[in-house]
Amino acid sequence: MNKKILCLAGDGIGPEIMAVTKPIVEKVCQKYGHSVEWYEGLIGYAAYDVHNDTMPEETWAKVKETEGVLFGAVGLPDRDEQVEAMMRPEKRALLPLRKEMGLSINIRPITIYEGLESLSPLNENLSKGVQLTFLRELNSGMYFGKRDKDPDGNWASDECYYAKDEVERIAKFAFELGRQTGQKVTSIDKANVLGAIGLFWREVVTNLHAKGSYSDVELEHCLVDAFNLYLFTKPNQFRIVLTSNMFGDILSDGAAGLAGSLGLLPSASINPDNGFCLYEPSGGSAPDIAGKDLANPIAMILSAALLFRHTFKDEAAAKEIENAVQKVLGQGVRTKDLVLNGQDDSVTIVGTSGMAEKILAEI
Ligand code: NAD
Repeated sequence: MNKKILCLAGDGIGPEIMAVTKPIVEKVCQKYGHSVEWYEGLIGYAAYDVHNDTMPEETWAKVKETEGVLFGAVGLPDRDEQVEAMMRPEKRALLPLRKEMGLSINIRPITIYEGLESLSPLNENLSKGVQLTFLRELNSGMYFGKRDKDPDGNWASDECYYAKDEVERIAKFAFELGRQTGQKVTSIDKANVLGAIGLFWREVVTNLHAKGSYSDVELEHCLVDAFNLYLFTKPNQFRIVLTSNMFGDILSDGAAGLAGSLGLLPSASINPDNGFCLYEPSGGSAPDIAGKDLANPIAMILSAALLFRHTFKDEAAAKEIENAVQKVLGQGVRTKDLVLNGQDDSVTIVGTSGMAEKILAEI
């Protein structure tokens, strides 16, 4: 398969982790009979320095020409103060990219890797084998509802609106993933209190499960507050977690803390109608470590695994990368963020490029 993929490395550690990930994509392509036609684009302050715009027209044009984006990170707090608020990259680039490209399904796998249990705030009994996949609706709900505010400052309101097809779209994706992986789907809501939207979410998910012939996929419902507790008391009872936009934002960030480092967590955002996808690490531009060969490239490399899974539809190629990461971690190779207190004589500490080279060598 040949795919047109746009690289938007962005700011901070973005260019470093992108540079070491591309050779891995190339090697997996070679091994599995694929090819990538690379496009390069500027975004964030890297774009602002050239075009005076954090999301220039030229970049939009490339986004629309390609079938997927590998995205590094955008944003630099120091620079934010020097530009108009509407030019801040998250506002100008990232959110419009998700909305305009119809990226309504956000996938965020959170795994506690064997050998890295001690990095997790969970005790070793609880952390062993944690493997969660958050599926968050990304284009609707509270973050996109009607906003209203009393001009006299006495009240304010943000509406939480979902259309049936918006809920069905992500629930269908969850059930298909449940069928493919044999994993249970846990749908999160607040049906006991939110008598309109909470009940509606639960009803739509339940009806699709029954009428969409998904009886082979196990479905359970869980209230958001209870789930928030269970994440820390019995995380191994969950696998696929289906959530609305706001609940997913809050819960998946909390769950990210379980893994021990943002440098381990990939993500993908998908337009289920045309297959366009954006792949990015869950962390930001990490300006504190940028340019020092300290960034962990694993989140970006695992995002490339998601590229093979969802854009190339090649599960074996995706697994090849995931297994290589697991193997290298199993050999005791660590970037600094994966070492408690920055020092451990029993492991080999490497930099961004060192980690990527080890992973490349396993493919
Ligand atoms: P951050 O995720 O950049 O960093 C938080 C902490 O995690 C830092 O200590 C950082 O060093 C560490 N970290 C993150 N990724 C790492 C990696 N790959 N390897 C090792 N350590 C890593 O969050 P922040 O500091 O709050 O934000 C920095 C900038 O990034 C801000 O401008 C923010 O708005 C932006 N941001 C962008 C995105 C995005 O582009 N999707 C997401 C979040 C934040």
